[in-house]
Amino acid sequence: MSSTSETPNTPNGKGGTAAIPQRVDGPASVVPPAGEARPRTQTAILRRHDMFDQALRQLDDAAKRINLEPNMHEMLRHPKRTLEVAVPVRLDTGAVQVFQGYRVQHNHYRGPCKGGIRYHHEVSMEEVKALAMLMTWKCALMNIPYGGAKGGVVCDPSKMSQMELEHLTRRFTSEIMIIIGPDKDIPAPDMGTNAQTMAWMMDTYSMTLGHMAPQVVTGKPVAVGGSLGRIEATGRGVAFSTAAVVRELGLKLDGLRVAIQGSGNVGSNAAKALQEMGAKIVAMSDVHGGVHNENGIDTFSVFGAMGPKDKLSDFCHGAKISNEELLGVDCDILIPAALGGVIHEGNAAKVRARIVVEGANGPTTPEADAILNAKGITVVPDIFANAGGVTVSYFEWVQGLQYYFWELEEINLRLQRIMTKAFVPLWQLSQKEKISMRTAALMIAVGRVAEAGKSLGLYP
Ligand code: NAD
Repeated sequence: MSSTSETPNTPNGKGGTAAIPQRVDGPASVVPPAGEARPRTQTAILRRHDMFDQALRQLDDAAKRINLEPNMHEMLRHPKRTLEVAVPVRLDTGAVQVFQGYRVQHNHYRGPCKGGIRYHHEVSMEEVKALAMLMTWKCALMNIPYGGAKGGVVCDPSKMSQMELEHLTRRFTSEIMIIIGPDKDIPAPDMGTNAQTMAWMMDTYSMTLGHMAPQVVTGKPVAVGGSLGRIEATGRGVAFSTAAVVRELGLKLDGLRVAIQGSGNVGSNAAKALQEMGAKIVAMSDVHGGVHNENGIDTFSVFGAMGPKDKLSDFCHGAKISNEELLGVDCDILIPAALGGVIHEGNAAKVRARIVVEGANGPTTPEADAILNAKGITVVPDIFANAGGVTVSYFEWVQGLQYYFWELEEINLRLQRIMTKAFVPLWQLSQKEKISMRTAALMIAVGRVAEAGKSLGLYP
């Protein structure tokens, strides 16, 4: 494992009290500018920092169940490579702020590393390590030829201009260029980033090489080699996995009540796909809070009218609720589609849904998982539920390598085929062994990665 870390320096940031332009020559790390409120609680920070421990505990449990060879188990507990970078950015005020960025590659036994880039003020190395490990399992479970990676920058994109975001993205890309590439590690959008972010990353990488290299990222605009259906893919996959589990439980999706936390890429597209399939979306939220409406929210008109910086509650009719209240809304299906660690031992008992579908990565802590299982709630784990995104990213990468692009129908059909192929053994194992879908998913995924590692042997 290689790792670099930088020395903290005093930030001189946007909105701070000392917004004097300042040259920053050396590496530094940043905390939000003085005087700027940090909307995080101590428990939220602790939950994020616990994420890697949680990921390790899940791996340990799966390893025990599949009798994983101890040396292989030990190797899988460590990310292959971690990189921490300082990202100096000239803000619109003329001041320079140095942001902290990370890229972690957990494992590459099954192929190049793959994983999103997150822009959020609570990003941490521990969180990125956990999410990179989850990506390894997700790609293995879907049986697509990738290992797991993840990246992130500690920033609040909602408070930055387009110009600042572009500068941040370009500098971050150049800092992590030494480890990314079409055959090495292929970033994609995650929370706080989007197709535009990927276009800037691709352009920065390509300009440095001297020729266009669209295969270095996925989730980019169709105009520069993106895939049809990629934007909606994660949400579609969430809806697909929900429908599959509903069917297996002998229920009908038609009329089932769904509450969704988060209405970004995943939440909004899952909401629209589920509404199309006949479900009733009774509650939704964004970072500002939520809305509850027993009669159902018409998500097509809400998201058709909303701009990227608008508040969801200004566009929905219904009672205003908090994000915490949304998790306890009376509904059939709860879909956390924002942050990790939101369902924890302090609130899991309040969940009233029969099914929890993890649109977000790592939204349920292991303690909460045990509580939900004891309550007989079926939890569809993140590594299956939100795998539609990485699956269509894989299609985008393959199309980019061949410079041959597919029709949307073909993409959706192939997505459904891969998700069905992953779902059948997953459901069967969980039923046969009487274990949660998460445990079954991890057993399958860890087993596949270990098999690849065993075939490769240990270098040198
Ligand atoms: P996004 O940035 O498009 O949307 C995030 C949503 O969460 C927004 O509605 C935002 O307002 C809300 N939010 C932010 N902080 C919140 C908080 N503290 N409480 C409640 N809501 C909050 O992000 P996204 O791409 O939709 O990703 C959401 C989750 O899905 C993340 O966990 C991400 O890792 C996971 N995921 C995304 C993809 C993808 O393709 N985008 C794929 C797999 C998994």
